Amino acid sequence: MNEIQVRKELVHTLEEWGVNDLSKKHHADFRSRVLREGVAQFRKTSRSATFEHLRHERFPKDYEEAIRHFMTCELESAEEIFRYSCIDRLDDVYDVPSFAPYFRVYSRSDPTKVFGYRIRPAFSSIPKSRLDPFVRFRFRFSGLKVSESIWQHWFLGSDAAALGMIFEAILASHAIHNEACFECKSRNSLRWNGGWESSWMDLVCTFCNSTCEIKTKASMEKCETVFEHSNLRGGLYANYWKHRNAIRDKHQKMFLVILPREWTLGRNGKRIRPVSCVEIDSVSPELVPSCFLPEQLPPGLNPKQREQYENLSIRGRVVLKASTKAKWFDLEKWEPPIDYGIIMEELFIARYSRKEFDRIETMFCGSEDEDESGDCIVNDQTQTQEQPESTVSQKEALLEKLKDAESVENWEDRSDCSV
Ligand SMILES: [Zn+2]
Repeated sequence: MNEIQVRKELVHTLEEWGVNDLSKKHHADFRSRVLREGVAQFRKTSRSATFEHLRHERFPKDYEEAIRHFMTCELESAEEIFRYSCIDRLDDVYDVPSFAPYFRVYSRSDPTKVFGYRIRPAFSSIPKSRLDPFVRFRFRFSGLKVSESIWQHWFLGSDAAALGMIFEAILASHAIHNEACFECKSRNSLRWNGGWESSWMDLVCTFCNSTCEIKTKASMEKCETVFEHSNLRGGLYANYWKHRNAIRDKHQKMFLVILPREWTLGRNGKRIRPVSCVEIDSVSPELVPSCFLPEQLPPGLNPKQREQYENLSIRGRVVLKASTKAKWFDLEKWEPPIDYGIIMEELFIARYSRKEFDRIETMFCGSEDEDESGDCIVNDQTQTQEQPESTVSQKEALLEKLKDAESVENWEDRSDCSV
């Protein structure tokens, strides 16, 4: 990919969000900002793209220990993750997904050429003015404490996100202790590279420095869809190019590893989960709702949070080298502990305290004998539309809203966030 192609991709993603009315100042300004920052992120580079320093890192062999280790890493890195939540104002009225309303149409004679843009059926009856992302999205600078934001994510988030975390941990544990590197076939060279800055390189080889981004999908069919389309949404665009531009050795490759969360029958009749590996060819820029954060920053941010707000969080759309797809290994059937919620609760309490757990639970869900929900952090307009006499449904609605409002983008690759 070169800079001309990057610019073209940035224009396409702007068009898909309908940011194309240059007579409007906010559209014109945003367009220049996206082109300027997108190209700058593509040029970024880090000092080193090697992983020898991880050679002595240990990752638990026991699956339950691996899950605990993984979750503990998430707890510890949470401080840098949480920023805000994004509210899609169309969602309440039209029940649409948080996608861009338009999609590209390719020329029939040349499938590499974009012919134009068309509106997705789900958005076709909505007035154009409401589709404008600057009107459509609202951001809640909730000022939640780290413990509150992780509680919200862990205990009000989707099962898919929690299961994604669990299966990623067991895949890593199995690969590190039993498998050779997919690229160089070295044994005992794979290491876990957890933490917030590690998107695109969850698992790395300390011998050839190749990296693997792990994704779990609900089923085999969903995995196949990824390969069919040869692309899916990944981590931050800037992080990918920072690493990619630092690579000097042509044998150092970046892979995507995919695991279905559902088991299937293997050839020998055993229940397995087949793990596939495919080389990442390139990563294109893609705008997501969080890119439309207002430029005016909320007060009281620390320098790290400031930096997160100020950088346009363009996401990377992974383009795969379909011909390199191959099975890496089979993960034997193993079921996640049914009580993983208890493990999460235990780890949360160990990191904070029981008192803090209970306090946050009351804050989000209210206590049993309280007749009003603990809705202190929700202040969007939609709440006033709820019927005061229906306390139970009010609570349920609040919980639903919290789930919706929680942006998976804030949680990088922990969630199954591809579309
Ligand atoms: Zn290797």
